[in-house]
Parts: sequence; C-alpha cells; structure tokens
Amino acid sequence: MSNSSQENYSFLKGVGQNFDKAAGFTRFSAGILEQIKACNSILRVKFPVKIGDTVEVIEAYRVQHSHHKLPCKGGIRFSMEVDQEEVMALAALMTYKCAIVNVPFGGGKGGIKIDKSKYTEFELEKITRRYTSELVKKNFIGPGIDVPAPDYGTGAKEMSWILDTYSSLNPNDVNAQACVTGKPLSQGGVQGRTEATGLGVYFGIREVCSVREDMERLGLSVGIKGKRVIVQGLGNVGYHAAKFFQDAGAILVGLIEYEGAIYKEDGLNVDEVIAHRKSTGSILQYVGATDLANGADGLEQPCDILIPAALESVIHAGNADRIQAKIIGEAANGPLTPDADAILLKKGVWIVPDMYLNAGGVTVSYFEWLKNLSHVRYGRLEKRFSENMYAELVNIIESLTLKKVSELERKIILRGPDEIDLIYSGLEDTMIGSYQEIREVYVNTKGVDDLRTAAFICAINKVGAAYEQLGIFP
Ligand code: GLU
Repeated sequence: MSNSSQENYSFLKGVGQNFDKAAGFTRFSAGILEQIKACNSILRVKFPVKIGDTVEVIEAYRVQHSHHKLPCKGGIRFSMEVDQEEVMALAALMTYKCAIVNVPFGGGKGGIKIDKSKYTEFELEKITRRYTSELVKKNFIGPGIDVPAPDYGTGAKEMSWILDTYSSLNPNDVNAQACVTGKPLSQGGVQGRTEATGLGVYFGIREVCSVREDMERLGLSVGIKGKRVIVQGLGNVGYHAAKFFQDAGAILVGLIEYEGAIYKEDGLNVDEVIAHRKSTGSILQYVGATDLANGADGLEQPCDILIPAALESVIHAGNADRIQAKIIGEAANGPLTPDADAILLKKGVWIVPDMYLNAGGVTVSYFEWLKNLSHVRYGRLEKRFSENMYAELVNIIESLTLKKVSELERKIILRGPDEIDLIYSGLEDTMIGSYQEIREVYVNTKGVDDLRTAAFICAINKVGAAYEQLGIFP
C-alpha cells in the first residue's frame, strides 16, 4: 500500500526530523539528545533454511533502540519491505511510544525479510525458530533483555514458536514465558491482547472527540456517535479498530485494502465486508458500495476521521492536500511523511500521532509480561473477595432501606473483575491519561502547533530524565 512516488523517502530520517522539531522545546543538552536518538544495538543476521530441496538464505534484524529501561520491547514483522533503516525507525518509535504511555521498557523492533505467502506453515515455523535461536545466541531475547511481540505479518502462532524455541534453549529460566508477548492464551498469553491495538485506537480517538473545544474548532460534534470513519487496512489493528468504532455508533463510510477501496455513505458493516472478501477474494463489489479500483483514492473520500492502519508513508506530499478528513488517527506506524504533516497541519487537520494512538498493543503486552513474571492470572486473587464484599454491601443496603434490588441488578453489581475486565480497564485508563498528558503539553508549550511534537516532547522528557539518572561514566 505504499506509494511508488515516495520510494526515495526515508522513514528513519522522517522520525529523526520529527524528533529534532520537538527536541528544541526540551531542556536537554546536545549529548543527551544524541543518546536518546541513537539506536543502541543493531543485529543483522543471515541464516540458511532448507525450503523444499533448496537452501534459502534469510535476512533478518533485531534493533534495540534504547536501553534506558529494560527489557527492550517491540514487535517482529514479516515483510519484503524489511531493511535495517525501517527496523531502526520502528524501534525508535517504540522507545517514544513506551515512554508516552508510561510502560517501563526501552524500544526495540525486529524483522524478517520474507514474503509470507511464499511459504508453507511448516517452513514459516522453521524460519521463525531459526531466527529465535539467532536472537538467543546473540543475547537479543530474554524476559529482562528484549521481549518481541506480534507486528505486521505475525501473530500469536509465531509468538508461540518463539517461546518454545527460547524455552528449550533456556530450560532453567523460570520466567521463560515472559520472553515474548502476544502469545496464545494457552501459552501464557493474556486476554484482550489480540484486539488491544485496535481497542487502544478506539479509546484514544474517543478521548480526542470528547474535548469540546477541539471539536468546536474542527466543526465537529462531541463524541464518536455519528462520526464518518474511513479505515485503511483490515489486518488485526484495522479490523478491530473498525469494529469498535462501528459498535460505538460511528458510520464506517470507507474501507481500504490492497485490491481497492469501497465507500458507502450510510455505512458499511465490517464483519459483512470481511465475509464478502472471504467468499469473493476482494472487498470490491460489495452490495450498495462504490468501488475505487485504486485503494489509495479511498484515503481522499469525505469523512470526519481517517484511520490509516496499514503500512508507513501512505499519506505524503503527493496526496496530503486531497485528504478531506478532519481527524487523522495514526493506527499504523509512520503513515504520514513530515511533508504530509506540514500540509495537513496548514489545513487544520487534527493529527493524532502513532506513538500515542497505537500504543494499546504494547500496553497490553506490558500487562502480559507482568502476568508471566508474577505467574498468576489477573483477577485470580481478588475476584471472589470482591464478589463477597459487593454481596455484603447490597445485603446491608437492602436491610437498611427495606427494598430489594432486582435479580439483574444484583448480577451486575456482584461481579468481581475477570482478567479481561482488568486488561480493558488498564488500557482505557492508559489511553485517556496519556492523551491528556500530550494535550496539556500542546496547550502549554508556546510554539508547539501539533500533537506529534507534543507527544515527542513528552517522550524526550521521560527518556532524557532516565538517561540523566543512569549517570554517565566519566
Ligand atoms: N508491534 C506492536 C507495536 O508496534 C506491539 C509491540 C509490543 O507489544 O511489544 O506497538
């Protein structure tokens, strides 16, 4: 979904440019800023894997951007676009992302340069396991060192292969399960991780839309209900974001995929579109919708909120001026180039930056990591106790008022928290609190005219303070 006219654009330089724009608003010396910006360790490996009768040499990376907090944290992607620069840029974004949502990790990212569709499941398992053993050999994975997670082209299955490989090479590590997150539930995963990034996107935009002053400036009403939304990418992040928006009463007017885009003024149903795609192989020709053969044209259709949830650099100098959305929520990492940023800011578009908006995934990864280290499921200790206390309370109220609550009310009140409740509530609180932090910096820092710069300032302040506290050897 990237644009060919943008081939020479450097994602890494773009992240650096955004960093530099914000750095001037902080109090740190040039040396500290250089350390925050630098990628601390870069691993590039090439390893052989037997595919059919031939040996294929696979190229892969793991970048640890910052060690100011450990472990390093970030996903692993499978894509032909993977190269050292891309992984470095994504690892840097992870550092800032974790800082913004107060998740105590340094940033990392990994990538294997493969086209997933060319391999069988067995071959993908071999590649993933071999990659993991390279990480083990080089000390680039471990619960306290570096903890991968899913990203573009990977999911729970790949994470279970990583865990199994790591565990068999570290049989005495009692915390081995915490070496990777995004695992299946049966392997130490946590409930809610799959939809976490999409849900975080929804919570984030809901918070954005709750600020009356900002909505008035944009000519929009407060709240999600009735807002026209376009989502690009129906992968894990895009699908779940679209679903949460739809369930909250937004009108999903457009969906964009590789094969094209569809637009329907009175709203699409994301599950029905997915079912249609499954049976026909395409989202196009969906009943009642207008087809756009070139997917990128879908970005330019009328809407209130545009959610790019695919790959980087999809909005650039070549198309930014034609974007009609009033709010852009960056669910993907780096979907806007700095040129696009400048054009859209001039138009008054409210850009909600990736390093905040898609932080739901790593936030719930943090909860999963804590669960693995504590060796106990969320809710196990307090659920029954809470239920007994609530029952006691209702009984007392009933006896004092001589009135009875209904059976349904009793059922609702008496429910102690399950794992999923605690995960969702922790995520919701994180997304609300972090947006307020960023907006406060935006409002209170003279000269800052966008949320991305404000978010970078928040991140630089936290990472810089940590580096200062670490002390620097004379
Ligand atoms: N790949 C996701 C991201 O880019 C999740 C990372 C994680 O959970 O460590 O934020």
